[in-house]
Amino acid sequence: MRLTVRDLDVSIGERVLCRSLNLGLQNGESLAILGRNGAGKSTLLTTLAGLRPIQRGSIDIDEVPLAEIQPKLLAQLRGYCPQQQQDAFSATVLEIALVGRHPHLGRWAWESMRDVELACDALDQVGMRSMANRDVHTLSGGERQRLALAALLVQAPTLYLLDEPLAHLDLNHAIAVLDIFSRHVASGQQALVAVLHDPNLARRYFQRTLLLFDDGSWIEGNSAEVLTQDNLTRLYAHPLHCLQDGAQQWFVPQTDSQVAGDIQQSGVK
Ligand code: ADP
Ligand code: MG
Repeated sequence: MRLTVRDLDVSIGERVLCRSLNLGLQNGESLAILGRNGAGKSTLLTTLAGLRPIQRGSIDIDEVPLAEIQPKLLAQLRGYCPQQQQDAFSATVLEIALVGRHPHLGRWAWESMRDVELACDALDQVGMRSMANRDVHTLSGGERQRLALAALLVQAPTLYLLDEPLAHLDLNHAIAVLDIFSRHVASGQQALVAVLHDPNLARRYFQRTLLLFDDGSWIEGNSAEVLTQDNLTRLYAHPLHCLQDGAQQWFVPQTDSQVAGDIQQSGVK
């Protein structure tokens, strides 16, 4: 099992964001995490990445407890892409992409031509090869996001952990990014966990889905079984319609006057 989570509690202060979580992800599998703002998705993802201590329960990568994996090996095993990218210093797009090779280099080694090729190939995949010499500070939000994903492709970990990878992307690039990562995962050597806000994309691209509720409860399983009208209406505390066309299903938020009335009554303008 690439990722095994047993009885995991994730808390901040007194609040339990996620209670007794159990899940297992094999190579070739992908998991979408859905939940409202503030539900604890990012905190869970950083915990899975080994960037927060575990309060209760366990997380194993390849059957080894996260805490026992040396930092360099951990960087080869799992790649984490945070919600926001921060650049304190000027650097070129190529230099940022090359950072993904660092877990694979010796302590004093410089990047080789092979590393540069890998970085250029990843930039190509996200449509940024022509920007290789641009300063990272000149990129738009969506371009910066795609660069972060390119650096992760260069890192080529066995487990991808992506926090809202589509947040700044237009539709065309969002689909391109999902296609790229799905292709990598489908090759059978890697697994993917990604936080999303779109149940339709979760159903289309991810075999499994985890719904994280505001009270720390959760539902995890096959996307087609977990992504139901009832579960999503409860998750987002907003009624959703399910549109069916043969085997295809789409969820759309309900916007009738009754819902508008409910929202006004609850004080939201
Ligand atoms: P999500 O990614 O689902 O939107 P987060 O995991 O970022 O949610 O945050 C979960 C909750 O924990 C939120 O209410 C957030 O305000 C709170 N939180 C996150 N980090 C901290 C922190 N360092 N100190 C206090 N509260 C925090
Ligand atoms: Mg978040």
